[in-house]
Amino acid sequence: MKDHKTDLSAFGRLSALPRITLMSGPTALSGLPNLSSVYKGEVNLLAKRDDCGELAFGGNKVRQLEFYFGEAKAQNADTILITGAVQSNFVRLAAAAARKLGMDCHIQLEERVAKSDPYYRTSGNVLLDKLLGATLHSYADGEDEAGADENLGVIAEDLKSKGARPYIIPLAPGSAPLGALGYIICAQEILQQQKEQDIEIDEIVVASGSGNTHGGLLFGLRVLGSSIPVKGICVRREAEQQGPRIKDRCQQIADFLEIDNPVADDDVEVDDTFLPPGYGAANDDVMQAILVAARTEALMLDPTYTGKSMAGFMARASEAKQDSTLVFLHTGGTPAIFAYEQAFEQAFNKFA
Ligand SMILES: *Cc1c(COP(=O)(O)O)cnc(C)c1O
Repeated sequence: MKDHKTDLSAFGRLSALPRITLMSGPTALSGLPNLSSVYKGEVNLLAKRDDCGELAFGGNKVRQLEFYFGEAKAQNADTILITGAVQSNFVRLAAAAARKLGMDCHIQLEERVAKSDPYYRTSGNVLLDKLLGATLHSYADGEDEAGADENLGVIAEDLKSKGARPYIIPLAPGSAPLGALGYIICAQEILQQQKEQDIEIDEIVVASGSGNTHGGLLFGLRVLGSSIPVKGICVRREAEQQGPRIKDRCQQIADFLEIDNPVADDDVEVDDTFLPPGYGAANDDVMQAILVAARTEALMLDPTYTGKSMAGFMARASEAKQDSTLVFLHTGGTPAIFAYEQAFEQAFNKFA
């Protein structure tokens, strides 16, 4: 696929890093007029549609994977290894990108979510992982990023002994922030679209998990001189842990790119109001937000990530000043909907 024209000169080493383009152009930044009218049309709501990608249902991990696959190809790897939750969108998209690039993919699924839903282990992303022909492994602990990475190393050694050339996509915070770089490019795209559409964005709301999306976006905006606030909606950890994590991530990006870190401490905004009961499970407010977004804008949101960020977005919309322009960054996750059928049935009964 062709690279879209971007000037990355403000980002230090970024343009010199290996990258494989997995998107053929910018994603849409489009209006949400029906949802805006829920707030009496007094706010202007838009969505940045990173859920719409040509690669296997798309999502925010596509941008992140461009740099991992760039490095993997530069190292002449032929097999990708990655770890994630059972319903991880990241591993599904890694498997998809691997196929597009003629590579094999080994996926390690961590037991991060205690789920009774019969579809959680078979449908949604798991079904797609299998459809893509990835080799699945399981890891018993869902909160041990370093241990999970280490175990991937064991699998990689085994593959090497069989003649494969493995490349590991690491998830622990200490590793190079390659994923976040994809959202630097997204920041540039959003500023370009803001100009083209002649709008002034007052805030961007985004799910904050590993922090690659949140951190990369915030970093990219600030480097480019934009002070648009980015509100991170916690989907994995409480604000008390997530805030420092995002700050660290921004510093890591700066160190990695060998440029100054333009992100001030109070640029990092995180909100964990919609996190309970925890990662991979949604409360009533979140399920209701999902239903409202579907029934006003036909947006497809999932209970783990985008349902929570939408609940946060709606909360911001209801408190925003008149004529504010708010952007919801839709990070994808669509296939996970099918893994949560029970949660959806319960929500239909409760809120129909
Ligand atoms: C992974 C993921 C997120 C969180 O992104 P991070 O970069 O890990 O913070 C948000 N939404 C969806 C759909 C995801 O798959």
